[in-house]
Amino acid sequence: MSKVSIQTLLNRYTQILSEIPDAYFEVECLLAHLLTVDRLFLKKNPDILIEPSVQKTLNQQVLERKAGKPLAYIIGKKAFWTFQLTVTPAVLVPRADTECLVEMILQTLPERLPHPVVDLGTGSGAIALALATERPLWKIIATDLSKDALLVAKKNAHNLSITNIDFYEGSWFEPLKEKGLFSAIVSNPPYIPESDPHLLHPSLQMEPYSALCSGKSGLEAFIKIIEGSKQHLVNNGLLCLEHGHDQSMALSALLKKQGYVNQQQFVDLGNNPRVVTARWCF
Ligand code: GLN
Repeated sequence: MSKVSIQTLLNRYTQILSEIPDAYFEVECLLAHLLTVDRLFLKKNPDILIEPSVQKTLNQQVLERKAGKPLAYIIGKKAFWTFQLTVTPAVLVPRADTECLVEMILQTLPERLPHPVVDLGTGSGAIALALATERPLWKIIATDLSKDALLVAKKNAHNLSITNIDFYEGSWFEPLKEKGLFSAIVSNPPYIPESDPHLLHPSLQMEPYSALCSGKSGLEAFIKIIEGSKQHLVNNGLLCLEHGHDQSMALSALLKKQGYVNQQQFVDLGNNPRVVTARWCF
């Protein structure tokens, strides 16, 4: 194998990944990661010749990507909010739409007071970490059922020098016993119905099933969270949930039935209903 230019590699592998919408961008990300440079460097230096050993690794990674492995798992990181998160197959790849949930929480709870806030099912820690950087005074608890996910979230907190999050392992409210009441409970729980054909997509098959699905209807985790939060919120406390694009009516009905008030719906980057907030008053 002889040396080949950056531009030749980018073109060659973009063609191999042609069924992926952002193929050129993704190949740039892979090559930039391998060379420990940024994408701008590649653009500025298209003629630099690349060693066969790098080409070989790039080739392997492109084939993994072609087989459906998410780019974030291959390079081990994903941009979210204002930072880069470490991600492994133990956690859901954080989605840009989840940044809308963070924005809504910050808008709805603007005070820079030492609010106690919990992120249920934190995964990589995306939501908790974004809130912690924006609201350093908040006392945040992040929970997850998965020990391996919590290790990733803790690593991210460490890398970002974030100290106002405590991490606890356990199912939904289990780790919150004797932790007092919260000003806000937030979650992006597993909400894909078990029969949804999207689950057959190779990239979703590589993400943890328990982060995607909680049961047949896709509402199972919401039901638990909406019921359980009533015992853990302060008066006028905020519940803030990300949900599927077609679940807003069902969630609205669930929240109403359980006595929540002041519901607000928000849309994601693709203009789909994606986030609901509601207050619990006693
Ligand atoms: N809270 C994490 C995120 O939004 C994980 C969510 C999940 O695993 N369902 O990325």
